[in-house]
Amino acid sequence: MAHSFNLASLPSLRKIAAATGLSLGLVLAGCTPTETEASADPRPSVVASSTIIADLTEDIAGETINLTSILRPGDDPHIYEPVPNDIKALEQADLVLYNGFNLEPALIRLLEAGSQDAIHVPVGEAVDALEMDKAGQKQPDPHVWGDVTNAIAMVNAIRDALIDLSPADQAVFIANSQTLNSQLADLDTWISRQIETIPEEQRLLVTTHDAFQYYTTSYDLEMLGTLIGISTEEQPSAQTVQNLVNEIKTRGVPAIFAETTINPQLIKTVAEEAGVELAEQELYSDSIGASGSPGDSYLNMMESNTKTIVEALGGSYTPFIREAPAAADSESATPQAVPAESIAP
Ligand SMILES: [Zn+2]
Repeated sequence: MAHSFNLASLPSLRKIAAATGLSLGLVLAGCTPTETEASADPRPSVVASSTIIADLTEDIAGETINLTSILRPGDDPHIYEPVPNDIKALEQADLVLYNGFNLEPALIRLLEAGSQDAIHVPVGEAVDALEMDKAGQKQPDPHVWGDVTNAIAMVNAIRDALIDLSPADQAVFIANSQTLNSQLADLDTWISRQIETIPEEQRLLVTTHDAFQYYTTSYDLEMLGTLIGISTEEQPSAQTVQNLVNEIKTRGVPAIFAETTINPQLIKTVAEEAGVELAEQELYSDSIGASGSPGDSYLNMMESNTKTIVEALGGSYTPFIREAPAAADSESATPQAVPAESIAP
């Protein structure tokens, strides 16, 4: 079979190769010899950068789109380096949904370098960011989903982007996002109630990296300290480790937490040196968990994190009850007719 290759896209591939440090050979190796595979699916192609955005998008769009998630469960977005298949997915995408606020720097560089026709929407930037220090500079904190009301804003941004992409499926997107947002509103209230059960002087969070500022701010915990800052590229100094150990001892923190996307070795050492428990269940910080794990969706990861925190810090946990069934597939997503005036957010 003859290999058809679109030479017109070569300059953009060169640009991508230069911008990402990938060799051009590696970039080209990721291209399919024919375009038939991609064009076989008539649905719009949507690429999500993070597993959290992919999960929310799947709940809203069901089977109406062909959805690809660049990151897989457990991948660390801060240090993720794109592979040739990612470039292929981005080249074929009609819509790219990413977090923004520099959560996924290498992917954002790739998006900026490419000449893709796709619409790019930074859905995490739909919220007012909290600030963080990074290398002495104030930057927006990208971990916006830690506050469930921010996830509702992300759902609305995803819904609007999908409606622009595929107006014919508008009613499905609206019905599913209403179901999801109602569950998220319940989850938000439930988390507050759970955290309130922790004795006030023990509402102290110590994690590996600084992903929980939105969570602690919204749900009334104190972010006591982390080993590393906003981005996982950094390595903590011996002094940082010692200061954290001292702080944990001084404040009488009952337990500290590892994260699913980061090697737990150093936080284990901190727990040992401070003489505190390291919670057995790791927190889901920048990614949902693998299918079948306690945090295998955004709702499940927030529920699992809250259960882990509440139990380790001395609160009493009551399971989260979902009022409405998840409407993630096209059968259950068959919507009622939606009157035009209810379309506005
Ligand atoms: Zn992070």
